[in-house]
Order: sequence, then C-alpha cells, then structure tokens
Amino acid sequence: MVRAIVGANWGDEGKGKLTDVLAEQSDIVIRFQGGANAGHTIINEHGKFALHLLPSGIFHPGVVNVIGPGVALDIEELFTELDGIAARNVPMPKLLVSDRAQVLMDFHVLLDTYEEERLADRKFGSTKSGIAPFYSDKAAKVGIQVCQLMDIDLLRDRLKNSLVKKNVLMEHLYHKPLLDLDALTDKYYALGQRLKPLVCDTTQYLHQALQEGKRMLLEGQLGALRDLEHGIYPYTTSSSPLAGYGAVGAGLPPRVITEVIAVTKAYSSSVGTGFFVSKLEGQEAEELRRRGGDAGEYGAKTGRPRDVGWFDAVATRYGCRVQGATACAMTNIDVLGYLDEIKVCVAYEVDGQRITDFPATPQLARATPIYVTLPGWQQDVRGITRYEDLPQKCRDYIAFIEKEIETPITIVSNGPRREEIIFRG
Ligand code: GDP
Repeated sequence: MVRAIVGANWGDEGKGKLTDVLAEQSDIVIRFQGGANAGHTIINEHGKFALHLLPSGIFHPGVVNVIGPGVALDIEELFTELDGIAARNVPMPKLLVSDRAQVLMDFHVLLDTYEEERLADRKFGSTKSGIAPFYSDKAAKVGIQVCQLMDIDLLRDRLKNSLVKKNVLMEHLYHKPLLDLDALTDKYYALGQRLKPLVCDTTQYLHQALQEGKRMLLEGQLGALRDLEHGIYPYTTSSSPLAGYGAVGAGLPPRVITEVIAVTKAYSSSVGTGFFVSKLEGQEAEELRRRGGDAGEYGAKTGRPRDVGWFDAVATRYGCRVQGATACAMTNIDVLGYLDEIKVCVAYEVDGQRITDFPATPQLARATPIYVTLPGWQQDVRGITRYEDLPQKCRDYIAFIEKEIETPITIVSNGPRREEIIFRG
C-alpha cells in the first residue's frame, strides 16, 4: 500500500507534521522531488525540527527513509541535517539515497543567487537553494548522478563539460569569479565517498519492498500550485510536487499509489512571489500571521513572513483535483478560534465574470475574491481528540469547505504537536 501526502496549495500546509504522524503506520517514507528549498516543521518528543531534505519519517526508528531519484540532493545539507539531529540525541535514522538521484552543487546555488540579483524586481521569489539551475541542468543532461560521483575520472569529465557554459555566464553575464574544475572534482568526489554507505538502487529496493507488502508513504514538498506544469507559472518550483510524479520521482508503479492525502490549512498562506487572490492586508493579516502555525507564519527555510488570507476554495479544489486527492487533511484549525466571523473564497471575479475554476496565471492576476461569510466558533479547540467534540460551528466550517473542495476531509489537525490530530470516522 502506498499513500502520498502532498500539498493542496502553495506549500507549508503542514505536510511534515502529517508525515511524522502517519509514519507510525508505515515501513518506508520516501522523498520524491524538490530539494532543501522548503522546510517541514515537526514537533515531537525530541523537540522542534525544521527538516529540509531528510524525509519526515526519520523520527521513527522502525522506518526506512528513502531519498528517491527525483530529489535535488544537496549532500552537504543532508549531512548538516543528519549531524543536527544527532546532536539532539535523535537516534541515527535508517536512510537510503538513490544512486540515480542527481547532485545539487555549489554552483547551482551561486547561479540561482546571481540570477535573482540580475532579475531584481522581476525575480521569481527563489529560496536561492539552486533548484532552478539544478533542474535545468538535469533536463539539459549535464547533471551529475550520485553514482557518477564514485568514479573520479568520470566526475571530472562530466564537470568539465558542464562548466564550459557556466563559466561564460560567470564571466560575461554575472561578472563573478570562474568555477574551478579541480576544486569541484575533489570536493564532490570526497562527498561521494562519505555518502557511499547510504547509496543504493532504491528503485530495486522499493519494488522488493512492494512485493513484501511493505507500507509506504510518499512525502511531497511544496504544493500543487507550485507545480511546474499545473501551478501558477512562472511562480512555480522547477519540479512536480504532485502525487502523480511521486511514482516517477520515487521509482514506483503509478497503480500502487492508492491513497492521496492532500494537506490544506484552515486558512491560506503563501511565501514568495506570485498571485494570491484571498490575501489579507494590514491589521487582519498581521493578527492571523502572528497566530498561525506553531510560532507565526514565517517560512521554515527563509524566515520570510508568509502572506496569509482566507481559505481559498477555488485554489484548493483545483489543488485537490490535480493531486488526485482521495482525502484531505485540514491543519491549523485551532488558529481560527479567535474570529467571530470567517470568510471563505468560493469564486473569483475576472473581467466582470464569476468563475469557479482556477484560471491560468494572466487571468489569475486579474481575479478578485468572492466570499461567503461563516460564523466563527470563538473557542480554543486544542486538546480535543474526537471530531464530535469540536464546536458545532467549527464542524460546520469544515463541512462547508469539504463540499466546496469536493474532497472528504478525513483528518483534522488542531495543534502543531504530533498528538494534536483528529481522525474522522
Ligand atoms: P510543510 O512544509 O507542509 O510541512 O509545512 P510547514 O512545516 O512549513 O508549515 C506548517 C506550520 O504549521 C508549521 O509551523 C507547523 O508547526 C504548523 N502546524 C502544523 N499543523 C498545525 C496545526 O494543526 N495547528 C497549528 N497551530 N500549527 C500547525
């Protein structure tokens, strides 16, 4: 049985917490795309952690964690995270890295940073983790797979080829120091040697595990609206955070993914550049941002304040649709307890027309929200463990959204901690 936990929105929906909770019922947790460019916040008996690259199953000693071929692997970041959790007495997790995963290199970070500088006010809101240059190299077939790190001559050859164009950019476009082939070869060969004990053919491993009936969890990063094909292009990421891509990025047959849990917050939040129709401004935004998440709505990777707004049912219905969600998990329901009225964006107005299907970017840029106002429950719901015990108005809010997004909400999270979770039915 393979279950995917993915984002229905812009990311930061609380997937890390959900994965940490549901890892208990799993044997294997797999990251299938993205890199260290986002953060999953997890709060459990070991403390509070912001994971960027490590799968969120690492806190369960019985779980095997896999970094699949679709991931942008920043090896130094991986070791920094591993050292970080070891320093806080988390037992060394079981971790496997695909020999076909590609390596995110220092120059990807440099190119990302220089390009954002060059674009100035036209920038895309990159986290400057090197993701766009990494996936560009992968598509241009000049990327370097983990297995290619193990042979120093092959590595040097691949790097040499890749640096030709990059050094033209460094010199003539960005006016920065040239990249040094020898230094890069030595550095990444050494990192490859350090990584070697974790490296294997994870696709073969996962197929074997499937035959043995192992339960697997695919952990998505970011959310549907950041998908390169289906998201708010060009304000997307450079990979696919969709459950459908989970099969490709992990190395599993698509038919085995039988459960897709799309995670959404009880309100909306987004970090980085892009369009966000139900965004709040001023005092109202400030208050929600301060109360949201476990310590306010600030990016786990960058610390940037997140934009916050009312629940956007148009965007989330679309997000659930492109994810192929079989169920939805709603997090942060506790955050809304202070409001006497809560708005939900049920449609957009674009050029005088009411639309309920999420539009492509140029139309989205002109969209204004159409709201329905629901009564708030004005009660602290943390500590509640049964769905029936949630206030009636809170359940009505959930039921209203469930209908709007055309997906059953089967899990409700009412606090950032592992145990603050309600399974419905
Ligand atoms: P992810 O990238 O999808 O894992 O999401 P993040 O970890 O970036 O952001 C989710 C934020 O919400 C974090 O601060 C979590 O600790 C927090 N969080 C998750 N679930 C809940 C919840 O039910 N209530 C509250 N108050 N915070 C939550």
